[in-house]
Order: sequence, then structure tokens, then C-alpha cells
Amino acid sequence: KKNLIIFGTRPEAIKMAPLVKEFLRNDQMSTKVCVTAQHREMLDQVLDFFEIKPDYDLNLMRPNQNLYTLTATIITELKAVLEDFKPDYVYVHGDTTTTMAASIAAFYSGAKVCHIEAGLRTQNKWSPFPEEMNRQVTGRITDFHFAPTKTAKENLLKENVIEDQVLVTGNTVIDALLFSTEKVKDLNNKKINRLKEMVDTDKKLILVTGHRRENHGQGFINICEALKEIAVTKPDVQIIYPVHLNPKIQKPVYDLLSDISNIKLIDPLAYPEFIWLMNQSYMIITDSGGVQEEAPSLGKPVLVMRDTTERPEAVEAGTVILVGTDKEKIIQETRSLLEDEERYKSMSELHNPYGDGKACQRIVEYIKELRE
Ligand code: UDP
Repeated sequence: KKNLIIFGTRPEAIKMAPLVKEFLRNDQMSTKVCVTAQHREMLDQVLDFFEIKPDYDLNLMRPNQNLYTLTATIITELKAVLEDFKPDYVYVHGDTTTTMAASIAAFYSGAKVCHIEAGLRTQNKWSPFPEEMNRQVTGRITDFHFAPTKTAKENLLKENVIEDQVLVTGNTVIDALLFSTEKVKDLNNKKINRLKEMVDTDKKLILVTGHRRENHGQGFINICEALKEIAVTKPDVQIIYPVHLNPKIQKPVYDLLSDISNIKLIDPLAYPEFIWLMNQSYMIITDSGGVQEEAPSLGKPVLVMRDTTERPEAVEAGTVILVGTDKEKIIQETRSLLEDEERYKSMSELHNPYGDGKACQRIVEYIKELRE
């Protein structure tokens, strides 16, 4: 059996890295990795950390690239890769343009499409744009759906996917996190030392990240105003915010939050440093999918700055609170977690609904047992 694993962005790389490692450990199969490099620098940092050398690198990142050319280029460039390696199974992850375009290319080549993190749905027609379309189109073409949770599987069954072609695995982000938490313990590099100097251990650390398109504009302004008020009224709190490089985010964040002594604005962190910082934090405020899946395993409550979510399990389990970009709600829920120790403790002790770190093992076993 020949496997081709394709990904292009940082979050896909983090969630596919443990799968690459699991397949490569298995010498009955031949496995190759292709990166589209839809993100370049942030992707390379993850590849270095997990010691993965791609067999094919399409290196497609261009300044101001739009979705039309990105989609077309991925499909066109993958033709040569698929014709060269002739995989039986192609693995794509999640909901990016790489995911959707690579699944179409794989379909054209006649390979079976395997979707990791399958079945997430916002139940909100085509929002968020373009992720909800990407995952739904990929889902239609997919032959084998690896769903992280039972809820994701139920979403697929509602769309008439055949039950035998769905496996609930847990989310591979937990496999990556467990591997990394071990490795980060031994890390003693300059970047970690710089972070150690930055963290004020006398204060409660709130870690913030944000990047989503739907929050650009007024959303980020509200978020910044809330963070400012929290920092000013709570001097015993330190906020560290690795700011996404998109100018639409950099501008409001640096304009509104630069001069506040207990807010540190820094560049995005490489994955191991980010994991280290998550571990040091008291709580996390984010709009990231991956971060809200990781945080409960580290016992960190999360406020999610979104109105809808394709990850309802965490909200139901109570590890995550949806606050949207409503300034007052962000302030109120943050205060409550800072002041109400019992609430904080019960949230931080909850079980992570996203898996046990064995997702990749389950996926590889499933593929091994399939008849040719
Ligand atoms: N992350 C990172 N550095 C940062 C912020 C996040 O390495 O400065 C990691 C984080 O641990 C998680 C992933 O990136 O695994 C989430 O990526 P992102 O928030 O960009 O995308 P999403 O998960 O929302 O698709």
C-alpha cells in the first residue's frame, strides 16, 4: 500500500506530523509526504521540530495570493506528484484550501481519499468562509473519514456517509501534544530562556491568540479593548499575546495595546515554545481551533472568541466558554475565572473530549486492515 500525506499550513502540519511518524514506523507500507507550503515559515518550524523531511515540496506561497490561484495551482502542481508516486491512499487534514484542492486532485488520480479530522460542521451553511466549504467538499469526495469525536461521526451519518467508512479516532492534535510535551521538557534553547525572562511568575498569566477572518475589523478592536480593560483593572495579571503577522490583526493590536505594562505583544511562537507557554498560563483566550483542543489536556480553561463553533464537544464538556467578540462578555468571563477559584478549579480538572493520544495508531491500523 502506498500512502501520500499532503498538508500546507502550520495547524495541518502539527496535526499530521504524528501520523507521518506512525506510518513511517510501519515498514509494510510505503509512505511519502508532500507539502504545498500554503504557509512557509510557520510550516517549516513544525517540520524541523518533528524532524520530517517532505519528499515533495510545492513551495506555493506567494505574496497576496488569492483563493482562485491558490486552489488552481495546488490542483495543477499535484498532478505531477500523483503521477510520480501513484499513491493508493491520499491523506488530507481538516478544512484548508490545501485540504480541498488536494482531495480533488487525489480524486482525479483515482487514489482513495482519507480525511483526517473529518465531520466537523458549524451547522451554519457556508460559514466560516472558506473553511466550512473546504471541509464539506472534501467530505463529499472522501472514501475514509477519520472523525475525531462521536459528534463528528454523527454529522457525517446525517449526510448519508456509509457508517463502515467512518472511524472515530480522537484528534491527532493530542498525539502531537503528548509527543511535544515530553520533548519540550528537555528544551533549553535561547527562545525558551527569553520567554522565561518575560513571564512574571508573581502574576497570573493569560495567553492570547487570534487570527480568524471573521474577527477582522471591529471584532479585533473589541477584543483589544477588553484585554486593555482586564490588564488595567487587574495589575496581578500578565497578558502575553503572540500576534499573528496579518496586518489586519497587527494594526489594531499594536495601536491599542502597545503601551500597557502588563501586556506583552510578541511575534508568533514556534510550536514547542507555544506549548511551553501554554503550560505556564493560568487561562487562554483564543479563536484558534487547535488551541481549544489542546488546552484541556494541559488543564487550562479557554475563552473562545467565536459565536459559532464546529467544536461543540468542548463547550458541552465545559472546558471552553464561547464569548464571541463581545467586549463585556470577554471581561466578565475572564474576571470570573480569575476570582472564582472553585469555578476555575473545576474547569481545569475536566476531561479532554478530543482524545487520548492514540488517534494515529487507530488510523494506521484501520488502513493496514483494509483489503487491497
Ligand atoms: N501555535 C503555535 N504558535 C503560536 C500560536 C499557535 O505553534 O504562536 C499552534 C498551537 O499550539 C496549535 C496550532 O498552532 O497547535 C493552531 O494553529 P492556528 O491557531 O493558526 O489554527 P487553527 O487551529 O485555528 O486552524
